[in-house]
Amino acid sequence: MNPRAYDTKTTLKQELKVVPAVGYAVAGAWLVVFFAVVMPLILRTAHPKPGEPPLWLIAILLTFAGAVLALWVVMIFYVNADAGRRQMNRTLWTLLVIFIPNAIGFILYFVLRHPIARPCPKCGASVRPDFVFCPACGESLTSACPACRHTVEPGWAACAFCGAKLS
Ligand SMILES: [Zn+2]
Ligand SMILES: [Zn+2]
Repeated sequence: MNPRAYDTKTTLKQELKVVPAVGYAVAGAWLVVFFAVVMPLILRTAHPKPGEPPLWLIAILLTFAGAVLALWVVMIFYVNADAGRRQMNRTLWTLLVIFIPNAIGFILYFVLRHPIARPCPKCGASVRPDFVFCPACGESLTSACPACRHTVEPGWAACAFCGAKLS
């Protein structure tokens, strides 16, 4: 069995690869349009009167807003792809994170998302890491130490609970 089959830890680098290239392309295109066209246009037409925010403050706020929107686009593509590998409803979650305001959709997603599905070592069906048996073929997905019956993880050479050698 693949020792990493039930490894549910992911690094930020791995997570960034989940976002499809088109997601980065859309966010990049937005940044170019925003900083090359929209922002100069706003700054050129803005003539703050005394008492209104000065031009430099408007520029900082616009930079922040532009960057946040780019991040938002990347996150939408992330949720869309991530929901797929977790056997969740991609369309539903993508719409929820777009339309629920104040990033509450994203918070809900990260609280409620399922563990990443893995292939069953026998039949290849997608199984969640918390499954004990494959729902498609009945293969046992966890192994127990023959000496103490504790659950042992794939790849262990010896039981972590009683020291028995595992083959
Ligand atoms: Zn199976
Ligand atoms: Zn044991």
